[in-house]
Amino acid sequence: MATISEAAHLSTQAIHAGLAPDPTTGAILTPIYQTTTFVQEGVGKDKGFTYTRSGNPTVAALERNLAAIERAPAGMEVLPACCFSTGMASITGLLLATLEQGARVVVSDVVYGGTVRLLRQVLAGFGVQAVFVDTSDPDEFAAAVTPDTRLVLIESPANPTLKLTDLALAAEIAHRADALLAVDNTFLTAALQSPLLLGADAVVYSTTKYVEGHNATVGGAVITTNPGLQEKLRLVQKSVGFAQSPFEAWLTLRGIKTLPLRVAHHSENALVVARALEDHPRVRCVRYPFLESFPQHHLARQQQQAGGGMICFEVEGGVEAGIRLLENVRLCSLAENLGAVETLLTHPASMTHASLPADERQRLGITDGLIRLSVGLEHPEDIIADLDAALSGKGGQQ
Ligand code: PLP
Repeated sequence: MATISEAAHLSTQAIHAGLAPDPTTGAILTPIYQTTTFVQEGVGKDKGFTYTRSGNPTVAALERNLAAIERAPAGMEVLPACCFSTGMASITGLLLATLEQGARVVVSDVVYGGTVRLLRQVLAGFGVQAVFVDTSDPDEFAAAVTPDTRLVLIESPANPTLKLTDLALAAEIAHRADALLAVDNTFLTAALQSPLLLGADAVVYSTTKYVEGHNATVGGAVITTNPGLQEKLRLVQKSVGFAQSPFEAWLTLRGIKTLPLRVAHHSENALVVARALEDHPRVRCVRYPFLESFPQHHLARQQQQAGGGMICFEVEGGVEAGIRLLENVRLCSLAENLGAVETLLTHPASMTHASLPADERQRLGITDGLIRLSVGLEHPEDIIADLDAALSGKGGQQ
């Protein structure tokens, strides 16, 4: 195993941590161990792996790497990570590992629509009580975290409105009630925000997004500082059958090598695009955490290392003008994913958050005219030119 000092910079950790050349061939990249089972030398004599649903060397390499880049608070020797087949499987795994029948979970009111659907349409049937609150409002938040709360689950920045929650304060509020704090860090990743260092007990990811970053996989992970929780996550993972495939893990490992570089550049591009949208006569209400006009700009600067690659905005002329933009872009694509090298536009009301009732979406600021923009790694001038042409009705003509 390459020995990487814990003090090494994130870009070094991302390339090397937890990884070593293949001992038999010297291959510098961890091989794809595409196998269901592992032959044992004798009864009870395995080499650490028995069956890929319970563990696989390629997936284990990804877990070691993710654990290293997530940064444990000083003094913790091993920071365990557990990979899952998708981001939703990792959120389900986290909820199954922390909750039981009748248990209460407090969740940010603005989160990915799939998380709301899971809690309301699947887990409610098993007696899980999900309470959605504005976790950016400390009083409303603290009042909701009653002594019977087991888990607090926060997205910051939240999908799609980018609302932030003060994570250090959230840890205080959760821990006062003996609840665990988990943060869905999908929008920023370990390269731009470190929830564990701010007091969270677990970080959850859709690695489908920035972590893998190339629109090539679906995957998820939970990284926790709590050994009891890690044990339960493993139990859930192998019992429910949420394992990640070795090929997805290999692609994700390859993606992580450039994660710090990519998210820094996504952030630079996004700031340029956000400023251009702010100045555009056909655009209103641009939200981007590192814009001075963002209502929680100060908090963004305090707990994030950069603004990330996500922007949301509304177009003058309402829903119809928004649809015209979405249908007229040529370089950017209308699609549901985010966090990849290609710039993607999404219409949350009809796509990622369609499962929420219309009045709730309206109350949360997920208006019918809201557009979510995942700024890719194309040159920002080309992205701006494409958006400008589509906004002016000149796109989609060639
Ligand atoms: N968490 C966030 C913040 C997301 O945006 C998504 C998907 O968009 C998920 C979790 C679910 O991830 P996946 O699509 O990999 O299941």
